[in-house]
Amino acid sequence: MVLVPVETELYDVLGVPPSASENDIKKAYRKKAKEHHPVSNPNDPGAAQKFQEMAAAYEILSDPNTREVYDREGMDGLTGGRGGGMPADPAEIFAQFFGNANFFDFTAGAPRKHKGENTEVPYDVTLEDLYNGKSVKINMEKEVICTTCNGSGARGNAKPKECSRCESKGWIFTQTQIAPSQYGTMRTKCPDCDGKGSKLREKDRCKKCKGERTVKEKTRQEIFVEKGMPDGYRIVLTGAGDQEPGIPPGDVIFKIKTAQHPTFERSGSDLLTNVKITLSEALLGFSRILLTHLDGRGIRVSSPPGKVVNPGQSIKLRGEGMPAFKNPDQKGDLYIVLEVEMPDAEWIRNVDTAALAKLLPPKKAQIDPAPEIVDETPFEEADLEDFGDGDEDDWEDDDDDDDDYDGHGMGAEPECRPQ
Ligand SMILES: [Zn+2]
Ligand SMILES: [Zn+2]
Repeated sequence: MVLVPVETELYDVLGVPPSASENDIKKAYRKKAKEHHPVSNPNDPGAAQKFQEMAAAYEILSDPNTREVYDREGMDGLTGGRGGGMPADPAEIFAQFFGNANFFDFTAGAPRKHKGENTEVPYDVTLEDLYNGKSVKINMEKEVICTTCNGSGARGNAKPKECSRCESKGWIFTQTQIAPSQYGTMRTKCPDCDGKGSKLREKDRCKKCKGERTVKEKTRQEIFVEKGMPDGYRIVLTGAGDQEPGIPPGDVIFKIKTAQHPTFERSGSDLLTNVKITLSEALLGFSRILLTHLDGRGIRVSSPPGKVVNPGQSIKLRGEGMPAFKNPDQKGDLYIVLEVEMPDAEWIRNVDTAALAKLLPPKKAQIDPAPEIVDETPFEEADLEDFGDGDEDDWEDDDDDDDDYDGHGMGAEPECRPQ
């Protein structure tokens, strides 16, 4: 005769029909547990819960006795019947299949710490620093293991006393709701002893660290900003992070952040800068120190007579760019945009314009044939930033306003806007 199970939830959790054989259940669990293991699903906050449910379901269904009770009476039949209704440790069940019982700790729902936390700090550098390289000493304050108690936190030979709340296990069972009608038992870190299973009495604590096991200490670290280091590069000081007894300390990571330079712009190993030359230089050539480089060197550039420089023309100085990271003898190129500075009104007022006109190329001729209608139109000086503003209501276009409405809907009343 075939029993009709009163509940199938546990089978559903493992994805098997109630008629599944012992072997099917074992196989299903093995597959699912691997797939849903919290370590493989670090971004799924529900992974630990799911994993735990599967382990609980497997525990019941893999034992013919409990499975039989479950099939007949559902979960109700099992509560009280199984030594207090405590599910086994899911990590242990998992370990039966995959070994290594302790690589996952359910107490915090996160992987057990094998190493202290890494500390990442942004570190501002100038383009000069990255061009020339430099070493910097940085003062830091970090946690170090207390030397008085050697990290035990205890005074003298005092031993921690067993935590009575968790019976020195470090964790306690708490009830959590899995589904509207279903409660599960969850292991959580014992709040009394902070998961350690034991605690020191007030009078047994180390005087220096007050039982904290670590103390703050000022240290000095030297970091090297190497030539050509890319922006965003992480300088890792391995093991320089806070110390914690029992695990290796984490790293301190300095993340390079390049400050904007007033004259140079960097792209990879190339540099770009703008240089102003005069009208005479543009027309007659030049030979002078055009710029001061990032290492303070003057850079002399010559443009021979007979060559005309157009406004905005760019030139390239090969090998005058940034040093390549880890290979600083090799350098990128320096691009220079030449801006031609026109003489000012003062100059033109004092010059013999008639003589100048004879020297300069002729003015443009009138359009031929001339258009039938010609309007005499006055002009004023303009700012290109205003271009495009003239045909919009002035309340609609405000740069520092992030509103995403298109100005035609509600909420666009001008009186609501910041002025
Ligand atoms: Zn101490
Ligand atoms: Zn405890």
